[in-house]
Amino acid sequence: MAGKIALVTGGARGIGRATVLAFAREGCEVVVNYQNSRQAAEDVVTIIRQNGGSAMSVRANVADRSQVDEMADKIEQRFGRLDLLVNNAGVWKPSTGLAVDGALLDELWSVNLRGALNCTQALVPMMLRQGCGRVVNVASVAGLSMATPANTAYALTKAALIALTKRLALELGPTVTVNAVCPGLIITEMMETEQAFRMIAGVVGRTVLQRAGRPDEVAGVILFLASDEASFMTGQALTVDGGRTDFMSRSG
Ligand code: NAP
Repeated sequence: MAGKIALVTGGARGIGRATVLAFAREGCEVVVNYQNSRQAAEDVVTIIRQNGGSAMSVRANVADRSQVDEMADKIEQRFGRLDLLVNNAGVWKPSTGLAVDGALLDELWSVNLRGALNCTQALVPMMLRQGCGRVVNVASVAGLSMATPANTAYALTKAALIALTKRLALELGPTVTVNAVCPGLIITEMMETEQAFRMIAGVVGRTVLQRAGRPDEVAGVILFLASDEASFMTGQALTVDGGRTDFMSRSG
């Protein structure tokens, strides 16, 4: 993957940061998108450069199409191409179907679904012009209707992201492949809420590998989907969940 240009949204923290570092280790030139975590984005760029790699950070709220367009312009001016797009930026908040209000639904939707769509619409035309490209969307097992309580609005956005993955794969093939990863429970800052802590013990007990995952364990699968090894895969949603979905569907 040496010399490939990769954009990872929400690349300063968590799964995004681990993906940025994995791409950089493979020799990609990485664009680290962030919204609020400026220092963390600059820190990961510094680490990559100190190790002989190439990276830059770009601030953009993925929910805001004009900011995404500005980010796309910067990438086009600097590199003239984009090979890999990872739509990783996401937000999680608890909700139930009967109680979720429009504001919360809009907030999750605007980042988790609309953000991925904004980046795809702004950046994939570059891939189509150059004749190749890879998109990897970071969805969730929640989008596969995992029975985590009070997770309804988030699950809706991730189910829509999986549907978008399959629609785009159809529309963009054979030039661009589009796949998704569906992580289970991964220990990142997203899980540092009281609600999430309450959830963790229960989820781990219903996971075949009996533990939560690490960001680098998701990054490895994203790297695979972005690599030449996955050249005959498109429209897929791969679970990376320590066997949690299998456990849920097969236990009595
Ligand atoms: P995290 O540590 O909370 O990171 C979330 C990232 O999203 C941050 O880098 C944040 O950037 C970025 N982000 C949020 N809103 C944004 C916006 N409007 N514009 C640009 N960036 C924005 O969470 P994580 O666990 O690594 O999550 C990464 C992805 O994995 C998300 O899509 C999440 O839904 C998914 N996921 C996580 C788990 C899990 O258990 N952790 C499970 C399944 C799926 P700033 O900090 O710069 O604002």
